[in-house]
Amino acid sequence: MKNNLNIRKNDVVKVISGKDKGKTGKVLRVIPEKNKAVVEKVNFCKEFIRRDQSKNVQGGIMEREAPIHISNLTLYCAECEEGTRVKIKKLEDGTKIRVCSKCDISLEKQ
Ligand SMILES: [Zn+2]
Repeated sequence: MKNNLNIRKNDVVKVISGKDKGKTGKVLRVIPEKNKAVVEKVNFCKEFIRRDQSKNVQGGIMEREAPIHISNLTLYCAECEEGTRVKIKKLEDGTKIRVCSKCDISLEKQ
């Protein structure tokens, strides 16, 4: 399956389904082969770390983001203040950029 949402690292996305529905966050990592992305402060999971003195690991409970399926995400448009569909726009020099389908504002990070 293709990543048709074109979500990339550092994009701001909105969660459209699941327990974190409505949250927005920055994409920290994309896992294309699994169609998943890790989004800042979204899909927090508790992880138990075993104390390991040889590796100087304290141990305890650590909370961190677990990957979320890309189909649960949509790009966030700061102009519309909501999640939006993406449109690909071709610039005069041939560069393709992602724009908001509603307001036509570029969703590429400068
Ligand atoms: Zn927009």
